[in-house]
Amino acid sequence: MTPPPAQTQQTVGVRAFWRAATPAERRWVGLGWLLSLASCIASGLATVILAWSGLPLHFAGLTVYVTVYPPLVLASWWALCFGWVWAAPLVYAATFTLALYAGMPLAWALLFACSNPLGLAVYALGYRAIDRRPELHSGSAWLYFVMLAFASSVFGSAGALIWSYTNRIDNTGLLPIWQGWWLGGLLQAVLLVGPLLWLTRRRISAWLTRRPALLAPPPADPRRLTLRLILVIVCAVLGYGAGTLGLAEGWVQQRLAGADARQLETVQTLLSTAWSFYWVMALFVLFVGFFGYRSFRHWSAANDRLLAELEQLARTDRLSGLLNRRAMEEALDEQMQRGRRHGELASLLMLDIDHFKRINDAYGHAVGDAAIVALADTLRAGLRSLDRAARWGGEEFLVLLPQQDAAAACAVAERLRAALATLPGPELPRFTVSVGVASLQAADRGWGDWLKRADGALYAAKQAGRDRVVATD
Ligand code: GH3
Ligand code: MG
Ligand code: MG
Repeated sequence: MTPPPAQTQQTVGVRAFWRAATPAERRWVGLGWLLSLASCIASGLATVILAWSGLPLHFAGLTVYVTVYPPLVLASWWALCFGWVWAAPLVYAATFTLALYAGMPLAWALLFACSNPLGLAVYALGYRAIDRRPELHSGSAWLYFVMLAFASSVFGSAGALIWSYTNRIDNTGLLPIWQGWWLGGLLQAVLLVGPLLWLTRRRISAWLTRRPALLAPPPADPRRLTLRLILVIVCAVLGYGAGTLGLAEGWVQQRLAGADARQLETVQTLLSTAWSFYWVMALFVLFVGFFGYRSFRHWSAANDRLLAELEQLARTDRLSGLLNRRAMEEALDEQMQRGRRHGELASLLMLDIDHFKRINDAYGHAVGDAAIVALADTLRAGLRSLDRAARWGGEEFLVLLPQQDAAAACAVAERLRAALATLPGPELPRFTVSVGVASLQAADRGWGDWLKRADGALYAAKQAGRDRVVATD
């Protein structure tokens, strides 16, 4: 049995934590989570009361809007260190509370609060798909984090539409709110969440490595995750582009009320150029996403094929093409288990070429090798698909016959022996084999006992004059 591969990406399973956490872990993590919940709700309300939404920032003659939203920082840290399930309730509770406080109708508030958990899901998906921990101790780790933070912020900012709608804010007012949300989210992620991760995530990893019982089960299908991640990134980029252009267009149209024909024409040309640029870019992004996914599929399929070939190589004897000793040992292990569990019958044949040394001495090693190959071909041709044949060593072969009792196994052995005796062609000298047969007994403690009896039977066949089948019970 090969052990499951070590899990690189770690998230804490809520159920696993409930079952396996020590009292100290329960105390610290529980307390930390409740404190985070309280701070998320309090700072979420502060955002509304102190109007931290859509703060204008001026630089280089440009005005950008950012929103400061501390619950998102805290929840992002929980999402990236513990997992999405720990983080989503924090930011949901905070956003839901502030929405009710701001007078949003209940049904809208329930929906509105989903936007930030949606943004956090991008992080979870992103790190599960590439199976890395967000430890941020290298440039490429930072780059990936910033890319995810961008997609996460765009998704998280979807709530701005609901906010503007329920507060009856028109298109011109929506631009600073939406920009504030996604840009604020991105800046907070890069300036606060990133450094926090850099400081703490390694310690969390060390703790979780010591406590594997707390981990959530690994994802079932990483390939599907990658597809979803690519889709999410593509949607984020396209949504961001359409959102920015659409809102800016609304804003411009409103300011064009008193403009003359030339000005109108200029602005229309600019706008339609911007939109055609957007559609070309959208096609390009779709192409890159599709291409990225296809090449990912191609490489992972090539990888799988290579692994399968390696696995096959590691189980095959080079000269004969039969199973090697290692693979036969595995087959014997499995057979012993089936015998114990279901009482399945099975028999073993141990074959050995008679006076093989003489063949080598008289005709040379190449001819000896050819005899081994001829014997292997005879075994392959004469056995059922359930049966397993292996080169156990030198010129000694082992055949495992599941579901066959000693009598049936003797018949198989006799058939093989007779086929071999008539086999040799002009370039191969005549050779014979001796075969020992033993069936699995309830008293066998391991396959070693079983093998010993087959070996004893083979020895008896040699003693009795070779070229024959001898069975023990
Ligand atoms: P017996 O009938 O008692 O089995 O006699 P034997 O000569 O076959 O007995 P033994 O097991 O002593 O000799 C086996 C010989 O097989 C020794 C070794 O040189 C040869 N041999 C082992 N592996 C290979 C191989 O891969 N190729 C060739 N050509 N010879 C091999
Ligand atoms: Mg021999
Ligand atoms: Mg031998």
